[in-house]
Amino acid sequence: MHEMSLCESVVGLVEEEARKGGFSKVRTVVLELGALGHVEPEAMLFCFEAVGRGTIVEGARLDIVRVPGAGWCLDCGKTVPLTERFGACPDCGRHRVQMTAGDELRLKELEVE
Ligand SMILES: [Zn+2]
Repeated sequence: MHEMSLCESVVGLVEEEARKGGFSKVRTVVLELGALGHVEPEAMLFCFEAVGRGTIVEGARLDIVRVPGAGWCLDCGKTVPLTERFGACPDCGRHRVQMTAGDELRLKELEVE
């Protein structure tokens, strides 16, 4: 389950922010998660709690914001929505679409005390 190591890096990022920002208690962690990445939100929630025990995020809420997939269609010359990683363009039906969004795993916001 790679969500475990992803959560470890998230906790690492929060600890880094805490050092810089001088806070020691986190209430909410807001994480952006791309819809096309291979990360299960439920697994992230579970791992976050497990990995967070005894760290700065213990007891904090993990708030996952899903980022919808999008890509740039070379044939249409515009951004189109993507529902799968190598999906076809919904307008022209071709597969010359480069993914531009949907793969993110980003620490978006921290609510601290
Ligand atoms: Zn197209």
